[in-house]
Amino acid sequence: MKIAFFDTKPYDKPSFDKYGKEYGVTFKYFETKLNEDTVYLAQGYDGVCAFVNDTINEAVIDHLEEMGVKVLALRCAGFNNVDLKHAYGKIHVLRVPAYSPYAVAEHAMALLLTSIRRIHKAYIRSRDFNFSLSGLTGFDLYGKTVGVIGTGRIGRVFIDICRGFGMKVLAYDKFPAEGLDNGDTIRYVELDELFAKSDIISLHCPLTEETHHIMNASTLEKCKKGVVLINTSRGALVDAEALLLGIKSRKVGAACLDVYEEESDLFFEDNSGHIMEDDTLARLISMPNVIVTSHQAFLTEEALENIAQTTVKNIVEFMETGQCQNEVMV
Ligand code: NAD
Repeated sequence: MKIAFFDTKPYDKPSFDKYGKEYGVTFKYFETKLNEDTVYLAQGYDGVCAFVNDTINEAVIDHLEEMGVKVLALRCAGFNNVDLKHAYGKIHVLRVPAYSPYAVAEHAMALLLTSIRRIHKAYIRSRDFNFSLSGLTGFDLYGKTVGVIGTGRIGRVFIDICRGFGMKVLAYDKFPAEGLDNGDTIRYVELDELFAKSDIISLHCPLTEETHHIMNASTLEKCKKGVVLINTSRGALVDAEALLLGIKSRKVGAACLDVYEEESDLFFEDNSGHIMEDDTLARLISMPNVIVTSHQAFLTEEALENIAQTTVKNIVEFMETGQCQNEVMV
């Protein structure tokens, strides 16, 4: 089985080579992203393997179908970058529904602690032998209320971590998890109550039409003054312009962003020698209370192993049986 692998990074290869060899799948690694201009590289391959910032729109799907490519194996959980309705009947879309939820949840907590304890500031200061503490005052997480939107695999691990810190949890999910609400320290509430009562809000729901810009000017207005927003899920859950205004007006106390709506042309690449064209991102990054990481929450050794193994198994299962338990259905 030959698979065209798009948007390859050096850290992808060891685990995919290992499991590819084990299961008889050969990968041709392309550094370029999958889009309308590059889809022709998949000519002659049995399938393509894509990641979060590849563009799998109508045109890409039609070209893949014309070239006889039967399967699109996403090496991620989210599939908001695939036009699923158009893919139906043309190409089978497989994904990795779960891979170390700990990687993402732990990164969310790492961002939160860094931000509220000003570790990012302290690190730079002490490298310059500036041991002043002025401006580094943080606050205890113990006793604070965290609002968790999306209580799936990652959201629930994040809740466990927050409980370890002695925080109270207000949760919201379109499909609440049975047995999670204990009527005391973890309670499901409506979104408005979550906004009004949370000191910290962390997003762990998928990006859908319903959740697009779930944090916008009007929902930020409903939040507590000084709220800390964490987004390790998908960039477009947050209206970045509204967030910037919220930071400027001091309504938002801090923002921890591992994802950004317009990240696809920027994240995962070294742009240090380029002029930053995105004024909103540049302004957000310039804020002392905003921390941006470039979609790295998943990046642990354990998660990379899980992702490669599941992706390879998905491909083999589909090629051998014509079906796959991890196929994304419309
Ligand atoms: P999951 O499917 O286990 O959980 C998602 C939860 O969101 C579910 O409980 C679901 O009911 C809920 N949900 C669906 N629609 C909702 C809505 N309208 N409002 C509120 N909740 C809703 O997924 P997961 O594994 O926990 O992953 C969560 C998200 O994290 C993924 O969708 C993905 O976008 C993101 N993610 C980011 C990274 C990263 O590196 N930053 C890595 C993996 C996943």
